[in-house]
Amino acid sequence: MRAISYTRATDVPAAVAAVTSDPGSSYLAGGTTEVDLLRLDVLRPHRLVDINRLPLAGIEDRSDGSLLIGALARMSEVAEARAVVERFPMLSQALLLGASAQLRNMASMGGNLMQRVRCSYYRDPESACNKRVPGSGCSALEGVHRGHAILGTSEHCIATHPSDMAVALVALDAVVHVEGTKGSRTIPVDDFFLLPEDTPEREHPLTPGELITAIEVPPVPMARRSLYLKVRDRESYEFALASAAVALALEDGVIREARLALGGVATKPWRAHRAEDILVGERADVEVFVRAAAAELAPAVTRPMNGFKAELARRTLVRALQTVAAQGGRTA
Ligand code: SF4
Repeated sequence: MRAISYTRATDVPAAVAAVTSDPGSSYLAGGTTEVDLLRLDVLRPHRLVDINRLPLAGIEDRSDGSLLIGALARMSEVAEARAVVERFPMLSQALLLGASAQLRNMASMGGNLMQRVRCSYYRDPESACNKRVPGSGCSALEGVHRGHAILGTSEHCIATHPSDMAVALVALDAVVHVEGTKGSRTIPVDDFFLLPEDTPEREHPLTPGELITAIEVPPVPMARRSLYLKVRDRESYEFALASAAVALALEDGVIREARLALGGVATKPWRAHRAEDILVGERADVEVFVRAAAAELAPAVTRPMNGFKAELARRTLVRALQTVAAQGGRTA
């Protein structure tokens, strides 16, 4: 067994300096994925910098209707926060449909953004995996890939992004705040997740040692009537086969604005721009919903075991649109 040293950071600059100056170090927050991967010998840091006592756990409800959620706020706290439940129900629902109650009490918001893929070959050091060992190959292409992605894939990796929460954040145009030794910056959450292309080992645009400090959710009045719909093999403690985050602004039955994202089917939380473009200006009826969903899934690349996902995702998006439209979907 390899030895791992442990340090507890007392402030953000010290934490950032510790990890930036030592490439063999990693941050430790809730640890709900990271500790599994340490045990499996998939992640191999020689030092963990514990950030759990940094002052990054607040949920700030701001006067302009936005939220500033600290990176160390726990999933369960954010899911139950009144401002989230009332103004961003799709985010609350996505959080509550993720993981288990015990994990939600422990897992942090920043850690959720950084969680690794659930591809079984990634988690098996004996298997070829370009994400774990660049250039080694992708065992999933000819292996078991029922749960793998159909959108945003490459010939080097087809792993599905596992987060529910991030799907809602992409639909809401959230922004990730990060801190590095050269200062702070913000990254739109849609840009925070990289497509695998020919470098699947690179999942985020973070520079070494940069630390997520907060997630900003801008004011989105139409999100008061929004939905996160998740379809999975069982009703609890399971990843999505397909999911949809949907918010609609309707005026006299016409769609003025649509915010849509898909989960469980893509290599990153998938903003459904094609479907949005078709919906805006149209009457909110099922024929338009079916057409929009078909357009979004048109570029899907399926394989023998995951071909069902294209139809499942279409139906999931249509059902979510019908549900939100039936609520009225009006801007508050
Ligand atoms: Fe690795 Fe990605 Fe292939 Fe899975 S799909 S084996 S994570 S390269």
